Amino acid sequence: MFISNVIFSYSMLVSQRFLRVCNQCKAFCCTLLIPPVTEKEKHNILKAGFKNHFIKIRDDMYTIKSRDNGNCFYLKEDYSCGIHSVKPALCRVWPIIPRYHNNKRGCIVIKCPLYPLISKTGLKQTKKEAERIPLPIVQHLWNISTAMKERYKRFEYEEI
Ligand code: SF4
Ligand code: SF4
Repeated sequence: MFISNVIFSYSMLVSQRFLRVCNQCKAFCCTLLIPPVTEKEKHNILKAGFKNHFIKIRDDMYTIKSRDNGNCFYLKEDYSCGIHSVKPALCRVWPIIPRYHNNKRGCIVIKCPLYPLISKTGLKQTKKEAERIPLPIVQHLWNISTAMKERYKRFEYEEI
């Protein structure tokens, strides 16, 4: 499951609530889109000792392999992220997705079951982080997201 670092700075009690919600959701976000990552993010994940499950897309951009069922290779059987401490920026900012449309950057928030539990301050901070994600990553994400928009319809979303 994605779940931002901002969220994890809240109390353990609240974090446990988030984990329960994501567990019931069976980490839908980790099956929806496998995020593109930068060379630096890949380097940090490998440096932390995790196995290499990356495929090169182009210079300075990789994606994580998906399993036969579509799940991210780093998603564990209990629906938690196997690389939580070093997961890619796009995973940290979910349920906010940075977007690139008509040559302009923006953000949308996906109203998944986690959304009502996130404070306004948490959303604001996460949006700031989403806005710092490198543009080539956002452009690539938006290209593949558009192709998968049918699957997004599971949840409502809005621009923020
Ligand atoms: S509730 Fe949201 S963040 Fe949690 S697993 Fe589902 S889609 Fe992902
Ligand atoms: S890296 Fe972790 S949070 Fe990101 S898609 Fe994979 S399992 Fe989910």
